Amino acid sequence: MLNEIQVKSILNKHKKRDDWFLDDYSVNPYSGCSFNCIYCYVRGSKYGENRANTLSVKINAPELLEKQLFGRAKKGEYGIIALSSSTEPYMPIEEKLKLTRRLLEIILKYRFPVEISTKSSLVLRDLDLLKEIDKNAILPSDLKPKLKRGVIISFSISTFDEKLAKILEPGAPTAKERLETMQKCKEEGFFAGVCHIPVLPFLSDAEEELDRTIKTIKNYGADFIFIGGLTLFGKGPADCKTFYYKFLEKYYPELVPKYKSLYRIFFAPSKEYQKELEEKLKRLCEKYGIKNGII
Ligand code: SF4
Repeated sequence: MLNEIQVKSILNKHKKRDDWFLDDYSVNPYSGCSFNCIYCYVRGSKYGENRANTLSVKINAPELLEKQLFGRAKKGEYGIIALSSSTEPYMPIEEKLKLTRRLLEIILKYRFPVEISTKSSLVLRDLDLLKEIDKNAILPSDLKPKLKRGVIISFSISTFDEKLAKILEPGAPTAKERLETMQKCKEEGFFAGVCHIPVLPFLSDAEEELDRTIKTIKNYGADFIFIGGLTLFGKGPADCKTFYYKFLEKYYPELVPKYKSLYRIFFAPSKEYQKELEEKLKRLCEKYGIKNGII
């Protein structure tokens, strides 16, 4: 079911630039997401309350973005806009509504750089606009010497196991389709890579599996890769922690105690686990000659 909603603001300014995606702003044209990933952090995190399984379109997003970017551009407050941080900008409904496309036209008009996070091949439809943004965007002065691009396109992948992905990301294109789309973006001259988030403890985090994953991503020509662990938020029936434990109980009951010990009372795995994951990635990125992070 698709709801139409009016929002008060569409351009969110972060208190601090995001370390991974380098965005200072985010824009989410939709609320909810039809890809419906079980692990989706917006289900129960601090970023969103328990979310019912409904999708809403922010119908006044273009007029708001026009107003808000006009104000920011006038003050010279340029920064990368993440599109999107808590929804998929290219889910199937976008094909008909073209809302993301309208927002990109406004972003181009005010010359803001953009970071596209997607799992979908529909991004290819907008490469014409993205090329213009890439050429004309004004980067914040501290990023200019390091980045030199107005568009970053990242494809998120959690696993290459298709059976597992079908359960965990029931509405999303396969990881192979995402890499093929990334390859097409690269052929068109874009700066594009993979965000391997979330890596799934005991399911996609073994060194041999990460080795295969990074090798595959490199072979598809990614400019960069970055990695992040799984976060499990909330206790309510629509929260990702509840969904994820139901998934484990059904398909991998033997892993439940291991997860309980890894997550204990926190929403993220232990610091030691995260450090180990980052070290594995560093080793493998060096091995395959791929950049660990966007800059
Ligand atoms: S595609 Fe992204 S926003 Fe959509 S459900 Fe999956 S993780 Fe959440």
